[in-house]
Amino acid sequence: MIQTPKNIAIVGSGLVGSLLAIYLRRLGHQITVYDRRPDIRKVEFSGRSINLAMSDRGWKALREVGIEENIMELGIPMDKRAIHLVEEPVYYQKYGKEKEAIWSISRGVLNRRMINLAEKEGAVFRFKEKVWDIALAEGTIYTGETEKGSWKEYNHDIVFGCDGAFSRIRHKMQRRSRFNYSQHFIDVGYKELAIPANEDGTHKLDKHSFHIWPRGRFMFIAMPNLDGSFTCTLFLPFEGEVSFESLTTEAAVRSFFNSYFPCVSNVIDDLTSTFFKNPTSALVTMQCYPWTYWDKVALVGDSAHAVVPFYGQGMNAGFEDIHALSKIIARYGDDWERIFETYQEERKPNADAIAELSYRNFMEMSSKTADPNFILQKKIEKHFSKKHPEKWVPVYSRVTFSDRPYVEALALGDAQEEIMKQVMEMPNIEDVWDSEEVENKMLNLISKSEILNS
Ligand code: FAD
Repeated sequence: MIQTPKNIAIVGSGLVGSLLAIYLRRLGHQITVYDRRPDIRKVEFSGRSINLAMSDRGWKALREVGIEENIMELGIPMDKRAIHLVEEPVYYQKYGKEKEAIWSISRGVLNRRMINLAEKEGAVFRFKEKVWDIALAEGTIYTGETEKGSWKEYNHDIVFGCDGAFSRIRHKMQRRSRFNYSQHFIDVGYKELAIPANEDGTHKLDKHSFHIWPRGRFMFIAMPNLDGSFTCTLFLPFEGEVSFESLTTEAAVRSFFNSYFPCVSNVIDDLTSTFFKNPTSALVTMQCYPWTYWDKVALVGDSAHAVVPFYGQGMNAGFEDIHALSKIIARYGDDWERIFETYQEERKPNADAIAELSYRNFMEMSSKTADPNFILQKKIEKHFSKKHPEKWVPVYSRVTFSDRPYVEALALGDAQEEIMKQVMEMPNIEDVWDSEEVENKMLNLISKSEILNS
């Protein structure tokens, strides 16, 4: 045994809370998980059954506790993007090398399975227990029906706040001096829709692709489910000419889909009624520090770092927090103060890096995809990377198909951008983009870059 058993509370039975429960049970701790929601295994899903892309970092954390294969049963590998442009045939873009794929998994289905697995390990779940407050120094949490009503009190040795982007545990930490906090909502929201299976249960689109209909300021995506359906998400500005605000009637919604997404507008399940029934949700980046309080309280997952979903890394980053924490625990045993200190110091820069990368991807998708210079730049990078795959690893691959720190991926992206700035300034670049001259220039600049040669 590397640790003395403790009585630990995890606030939040989401993906991160339930995986953390499994890890900590394996170390012999007594685990109680509190969640304000009813048991997700007993409720019907509403219109918010997001699909997630699980990639290498997430799988690695699951593998460590031997549940990777169990979870793979729930997913479908997607080894490429299927890009649907207006009035052009679909084109497919492989994600990476042979066998590299991201996996489409329903968040709700995954959460149910994770709770089952955690319960099997001996974690105790207390649903419909909303945590309103915490005494940080004592590790006491207070739950109740309402903020003003009577509260129950639970004492624990350690409390983990896995209660998501609007964490109540963090809320209490925020009131302390020198606690840094910021949140930033983007002006784009999202809505879930669905494409049902064919009558024989097969998928209406290629099931091993992540489908994307990019339209500049907005886009539509579809990810496959095991039952033949696709979970789709419309990302659209809240306000403006083409926006959620402008889609107020069934006719407007129908006409919007017919104009921009004609090939799917007729196959979306109950398009107009679902559109108005399902909520329009906001997207936020949340950053804070410190993540821990003495040896008593730690934030893990979205409660410590919520990111916009344009890199598909929020859950993956949360799972990686847990994996990193377990390695630190193995190093420091019972010294929880040191464990928490090391955990936040190691993870915070990486969380900031993936927040930045995710936000940049959003900016790229929303404002740059129509810019001819940007399109040319991407064409040059792709051309070069095909010829010299070992010299130009796309940042997406570094984030998605590796477990190297996110900070390295961000540095790699910056170094590549610096090189591309110089390449784009070459005379007549639009004519010579695939010439030897450009290739040699890139090779030369790469040879001088420490980051790209490491
Ligand atoms: P949450 O999932 O938010 O869980 C928090 C839990 O805490 C909930 O069960 C909640 O009920 C409970 N809780 C909250 N407050 C209290 C309280 N006061 N008392 C008790 N319980 C409480 N990530 C990826 O890796 N890949 C993707 O492709 C991807 N796509 C996404 C697409 C969209 C549209 C969005 C919005 C997110 C996406 N994410 C993706 C991010 C991912 O969903 C989150 O990072 C992940 O769900 C975070 O898990 P969590 O357990 O930290 O928090």
